[in-house]
Amino acid sequence: MKYESTRGNSPAVSAAEAIKRGIAPDGGLFVPIEQVTLTDRELQNLIPLSYTERAVLILKSFLTHYTEEDLTRCVEAAYGGDKFDTPEVAPVKPLTPDTAVLELWHGPTCAFKDMALQILPQFLVRAMEKTGETSEIVILVATSGDTGKAALDGFADVPGTSIIVFYPEQGVSAVQRLQMVTQEGKNVHVLGVRGNFDDAQSSVKQVFGDKDFSEILEEKGYRLSSANSINWGRLVPQIVYYFSAYADLVRTGTVQPGEKINFVVPTGNFGNILAGFYAKAMGLPVHRLLCAANANNVLTEFIQTGTYDRNRKFLKTLSPSMDILISSNLERLLYELTGRQADKINRWMTELKTGGVYTVDQDIREKVSSHFWSDFASDRETLDTIRETWAQHRYLLDTHTAVAIHVLEKYRQATGDTTYSVVASTASPFKFNGSVAKAF
Ligand SMILES: *Cc1c(COP(=O)(O)O)cnc(C)c1O
Repeated sequence: MKYESTRGNSPAVSAAEAIKRGIAPDGGLFVPIEQVTLTDRELQNLIPLSYTERAVLILKSFLTHYTEEDLTRCVEAAYGGDKFDTPEVAPVKPLTPDTAVLELWHGPTCAFKDMALQILPQFLVRAMEKTGETSEIVILVATSGDTGKAALDGFADVPGTSIIVFYPEQGVSAVQRLQMVTQEGKNVHVLGVRGNFDDAQSSVKQVFGDKDFSEILEEKGYRLSSANSINWGRLVPQIVYYFSAYADLVRTGTVQPGEKINFVVPTGNFGNILAGFYAKAMGLPVHRLLCAANANNVLTEFIQTGTYDRNRKFLKTLSPSMDILISSNLERLLYELTGRQADKINRWMTELKTGGVYTVDQDIREKVSSHFWSDFASDRETLDTIRETWAQHRYLLDTHTAVAIHVLEKYRQATGDTTYSVVASTASPFKFNGSVAKAF
């Protein structure tokens, strides 16, 4: 399996090379060239397996450059032992007869970023061996709060690497900031940025795109890479938990084999939900992917109208990990839905960069709506949802997951759809304890 750039101007590379580079040299994002599908039989085979066994089966079809033994080691190092506080890794908890919560925050930093960032360093170390890399890999990370700590934890003292995290000084919760600035390790660096997440992400992307700077670094024995979800190595481990959740629901008899379900995903950079899209494309029985946004609802507008317009005020909300106006991974979705037309992607991404807005063709808009539905929750609605969910079900939500629960309610009211739905829970309520307390 090779990987190509969404901008069409970089040579195809192996999985190891794509993971090592993070972003393609032409500024595009790496995507797998071939379509991976899982047969019903293979899906059935996942049911009795553990999370780590399921992970190896899914990962090996994308990371063909890695042997099964490599992947088993990566997966064990990431999810085995006591890294996660439950052997299930990503447990599915029933909330109501037609809704479950997929808890993705049982890793060391209490947010879903651990699902990918515990394993990315494992992939990277092996990628360096496979490609004969002699330079030190310097990971640059822009974070809205959760990626930073998860990446620091994953990369701390990993040989041959160092990591520099940029976070918006005024844009993260107290717990998030303390988690980052107290990180231990000889190769870790953390910087507060005067600006928001988009400023941090755009600047980091600009550094990646600076060829002269890369050359200077290379002479000195350094090579840049990314731990943001622009890196395919971040995205691919996220596909696993969509399959794992489905397998668990079939195992418990909650859904019938082959029955379609919805996934509701609190969304910022479009990384988590895009992994759900890839799972659907691989044959997972998914009816709709619900993209849940906060008041920075640029994606909701895009999914509803086909126009992506970032010309609006950046709002600070109670779900700070979703305070994003430029959702990088949408580029991958558009590349797939246009049938891989790099010229169109180049045009839209140039329009986004210069004027802050682009509109996709009618047929693409229809394709988007056939897979996705979107709405958003205000801070008020988020807090009400936390309080009501506790009152009704004695289940405590964090602010991001509450956004998703609220959007699911709106979806059911708007469409009357009764399909069984799984809500991705992206953070522990204790990570955003100030806001959760405020809800009560
Ligand atoms: C990162 C994050 C999100 C958004 O995920 P994306 O992949 O960027 O869409 C949502 N909730 C929490 C708690 C997060 O840390």
